[in-house]
Amino acid sequence: MTFDSFGFEPSILKGVKDAGYTTPTPVQAATLPIGLKGIDVVGVAQTGTGKTAAFVLPILDYLVKEPSRGKRRPIRALVVAPTRELAIQVTEAAAKYGKHTGLRVATIYGGVGKGKQRTALRNGVDIVVATPGRLLDFLGEGALDLGFVDILVLDEADRMFDMGFVKDVRRIVAAVPEQRQTMLFSATMPPPIQDLAKSILYKPETVEVGERRDPAATVTQRAIRIAEAQKQDLLHHLIDTEDVDRMIVFSRTKYRADRIRKKLDRAGFDAIAIHSNRSQGQRQRALKGFEAGEYQIMVATDIAARGIDVPGVSHVINFDTPNIPEDYIHRIGRTGRAESTGDAISFISAAENANLKAIEKHTGRQIKQVTVDGFDAPTMAEAMANPKKRSNPRGHKSRSKQSGGDGRKGNSRGGNRNSRRG
Ligand code: AMP
Repeated sequence: MTFDSFGFEPSILKGVKDAGYTTPTPVQAATLPIGLKGIDVVGVAQTGTGKTAAFVLPILDYLVKEPSRGKRRPIRALVVAPTRELAIQVTEAAAKYGKHTGLRVATIYGGVGKGKQRTALRNGVDIVVATPGRLLDFLGEGALDLGFVDILVLDEADRMFDMGFVKDVRRIVAAVPEQRQTMLFSATMPPPIQDLAKSILYKPETVEVGERRDPAATVTQRAIRIAEAQKQDLLHHLIDTEDVDRMIVFSRTKYRADRIRKKLDRAGFDAIAIHSNRSQGQRQRALKGFEAGEYQIMVATDIAARGIDVPGVSHVINFDTPNIPEDYIHRIGRTGRAESTGDAISFISAAENANLKAIEKHTGRQIKQVTVDGFDAPTMAEAMANPKKRSNPRGHKSRSKQSGGDGRKGNSRGGNRNSRRG
């Protein structure tokens, strides 16, 4: 199958070809025919599967075929994403594929001044990619109007739920016309996301790529039992002995991320840390430096790494193995993206045994345990000194269920579009 078979506008096909894509990924092959027809979509797909193009291309195609008339450009498509990084990435993807369309896209996210974003909105944009908080800010100020949105996308819905954004998302949905196309993407479909989907999508078709809980099949996973105090040395050893192109090292806290980076630096490795204590500008610079190959290693916390899409990440190291299995899946999804392969290596201290078990239970797969010469498994003494910690993963139970009040009627997007256009 090629991209020629979808009936895309030539300008979009050109953008896709410029991006270097020849064959659609499985999620694209399954989603594009539905999305292009204006039908609602539930996409159960992880990052790295090519899901961004699966919703961006139908948006572009629709907007090119049904252009806004008149001088003012109303916002016709809205993508809501949990993090700034993901929002920026989706924007970059839309700009890349839509390079020849003349469509305008703006990113709206918090943590930076509002001036530039406000100006972009004022000048008129066709597509807005936003994180929930800042979007609601602008809505409250009357700085943007969602009354002309024909296509709404919720990206990484499970993560939005994890980050406590579901109420915000519902408020945003309520500001968008009921007559629209809605696409919801999520790596997992826990009951609260199913509820959300049920209340805001109309007769959706579900596209499920791969096993729901199966970490990207292209990633080779290993676990190494190691004493906490030896983790840093093991990390240095692996960088020296593995065939590392680019590596992301995950730590549990910002403080640990900084400390790991400092020690890497002292040992002569090119490393940078990215976490939420840093300003948006610092994070963007760090990311660009990592992308450009200035730094071989990026040390990150979960939130900061969310949505990062740097091609050619050969290794993901779980310096600290997460107690939330979904985080593990998201982390290892940073490597082995699209068609490439990658390695994920998890350090398991005595205190992290339970985390490993929880991940294996969740994914239904055993992770291969390997030993590294010169590095010992934690001793009984360490095991005794570290009784099991924090075994209660971010529970869905503790959150109250949101009740829906923002239903919708139909999904022939823009059914009454003409009446709205000036
Ligand atoms: P995503 O899951 O949307 O974050 O995409 C993961 C990566 O796959 C990105 O680096 C995309 O540029 C890349 N990609 C998306 N679609 C294709 C395709 N059809 N062929 C090759 N690479 C792709």
